[in-house]
Amino acid sequence: MSVSRREMLAAAAAAAGAGVVGTSNSVRAAEGYAPLMPPREAKLRLSSQEGPMAGDSLAAKLDNCERWGFEGFEVGGRGLADRVKELQNALKGRPIKISAICAGFEGWLIADKKEIRDKCMASLKSILSAAGELGSTGVIIVPSFNGQDKQGSLSHQEARRLLTGFARWDEKDRKREGALLAELGDHAAKAGTRILLEPLNRQECYFLRTLADAASICRDVENPGVALMGDFWHMTWEETSDLGAFLTAGDYLHHVHMASRRGRKMPGEDGETDNYVQGFKGLKMIGYQDFVSLECGCKGDRETAVPFAAELLRKQWAEA
Ligand code: MG
Repeated sequence: MSVSRREMLAAAAAAAGAGVVGTSNSVRAAEGYAPLMPPREAKLRLSSQEGPMAGDSLAAKLDNCERWGFEGFEVGGRGLADRVKELQNALKGRPIKISAICAGFEGWLIADKKEIRDKCMASLKSILSAAGELGSTGVIIVPSFNGQDKQGSLSHQEARRLLTGFARWDEKDRKREGALLAELGDHAAKAGTRILLEPLNRQECYFLRTLADAASICRDVENPGVALMGDFWHMTWEETSDLGAFLTAGDYLHHVHMASRRGRKMPGEDGETDNYVQGFKGLKMIGYQDFVSLECGCKGDRETAVPFAAELLRKQWAEA
């Protein structure tokens, strides 16, 4: 009798709670899945985007990162090729690495017009090359935002076919010519980085809203340069369980965004609502090694709100 993936994840979660890591991993291995809980300890590695970090210059922001124990710095993708030297120089001698690169590409992938897709692919490849030079974990992409393809918008199935080369499971073994993600993944892997699919909430996109769906796209593409990220802000809207969402993402997960859960401000600024413990449990269970990065506004003074957020995240990580 075969065990469904859902049953197996539930069993694995229960086993993890009981500390029976080996058993669940051997069940997964027997079913042909990668280990859910690798024998590696997850790490909390704090990162911040450029905007949320306190400081009025790049150097001041990096000084604050060091002061408050941030190990990663996330920058936008627009014009990245022209910033590689500036960023490399600014990071010299600091215990800080570039984490992810946030979007900044032109056009969009799920477009019925080839010229829009081509523009998107060309700009993404340029950003991926620069991201590789900077040692980044990946370039964040959203396949399409709401309203981007008003004329002749593509169905969900057509969009999936465009990205992966096939829409139906029984088409999986056919040739995947023209699959956009495979082409981007190959380029990314060669550059030493990845593309990171980011699920958004329904107000911002229709196509990709849960980590499980992004993970199933990664599984379909089967490319070392194609992975995903999770953003607690969007997850608040769309996921029924932060822990469950990260379990479904598993080894495909390579970045996480943080924000307060009610107003997308600094973690902690929405009080008790800003609870990430279940999500952090999920990250620990998958042996997460990448960054947890601030992508948020700020209600108060960044000089106090950012270190407060860092302490809150450390405290909740310890609790998880
Ligand atoms: Mg985000």
